[in-house]
Amino acid sequence: MIGVDEHLARVLSVVGPLAPLEFGLLDAHGCVLDEDVVAPAPLPGFDNSGMDGYAVRVADLATLPVVLPVVGDVAAGPASPLRVQPGLCVRIMTGAALPEGADTVVPLEWTDGGVQHVRIDRAPEPGGYVRRAGEDVAAGETVLARGSHLGSAQIGLAAAVGRARVLVRPRPRVVIVSTGSELVEPGAALGPGRIPDSNSIALTAAAVEAGAQAYRVGIVPDDPARLLDTLEDQLVRADVLVTSGGVSVGAYDVVKEVLSRLGTVQFDSVAMQPGMPQAFGTLGPDSTPVFGLPGNPVSALVSFEVFVRPALRRMLGAEPLERPRVSAVATEALTSTPGKRSYLRVRLAMRDGAYTATPVSGSGSHLLAGLSRANAFAVVPEDVERVAAGEQVTVMLLERRGR
Ligand code: AMP
Ligand code: MG
Repeated sequence: MIGVDEHLARVLSVVGPLAPLEFGLLDAHGCVLDEDVVAPAPLPGFDNSGMDGYAVRVADLATLPVVLPVVGDVAAGPASPLRVQPGLCVRIMTGAALPEGADTVVPLEWTDGGVQHVRIDRAPEPGGYVRRAGEDVAAGETVLARGSHLGSAQIGLAAAVGRARVLVRPRPRVVIVSTGSELVEPGAALGPGRIPDSNSIALTAAAVEAGAQAYRVGIVPDDPARLLDTLEDQLVRADVLVTSGGVSVGAYDVVKEVLSRLGTVQFDSVAMQPGMPQAFGTLGPDSTPVFGLPGNPVSALVSFEVFVRPALRRMLGAEPLERPRVSAVATEALTSTPGKRSYLRVRLAMRDGAYTATPVSGSGSHLLAGLSRANAFAVVPEDVERVAAGEQVTVMLLERRGR
């Protein structure tokens, strides 16, 4: 038996960030930037109006109300040749370039909205409602530093400074294979002893949530030749292979049979509950990491969270590798197998300013409904057998928090 940390360390010693590639902004969404993005020009690029209203010379508003002739309109778009001479004004729309001669914008709401002449009842501060060139970003400024995580606001900013493509760490391509002759495609008719393949669905979704490009291959029966063929076929498009099932000591444990003959895959009993049998190693000419996760659905997902997700995050160049953890008060007693690190399905809530963790499922590794009610795992260390109600426990948050 090996420890959870030892197994994770072995996994992380094998995987590293993928080589950077240039992507269009939307394909780069969710990735980690591998260059500094520098603004070639200021942002805003020119002085423009922050409101719909009138571009004026503020000196003309010394006594109020005042009526000024309106010499024309400027809308957002190509620059207008209009000039604001003393005593005159121009009707202006939000985002339109401030015409020469004007220094201030009077919001429409402070006027009678006139088209030929406008009556202005209130004067802004000098320079009011003008968005100055460079007030957001100066020319030459680094707007996104290497290592930044590209969410919606960040790719929007890259676009705003004129970039169409950026250099990022690509998403790892993860291929997911379920093994088991009992499995049928979800939704298909079940014969006796048959069950839907839920693992490849859950693991594919979990890989996407971790930021990967996931490919669900689906079901391979417990037939060594078929599994070997499938894995060899899939290696060309995989940065990571993930299988479920067939890693324990049963007679038809096909992953064990096939992978123990190949590459560097090692089969271990990891001191955790659920998820004890684990396979990990590399396969093929590019030493592609391969995870053989246990078949029980809860074990498969817990194993993914504990071992596969950190590996995918490392490949993405993303930090932190692990899910956020908080300390919570157990609302009921939690029990754990001595010598193993337990990942107990709990519901984390905030009560009177403190986190609480309430168990929502039994400990069986087949209890998928309980897992779906959980938003966190209480992590009970190897040397703790019982956490009493009211005691603190470390909780690993499963909900996505902006990745
Ligand atoms: P195994 O590790 O292959 O012995 O599988 C352990 C348990 O998990 C068995 O009850 C399997 O039927 C179940 N199982 C294995 N693979 C899947 C899967 N893809 N979807 C749902 N249950 C599975
Ligand atoms: Mg099986």
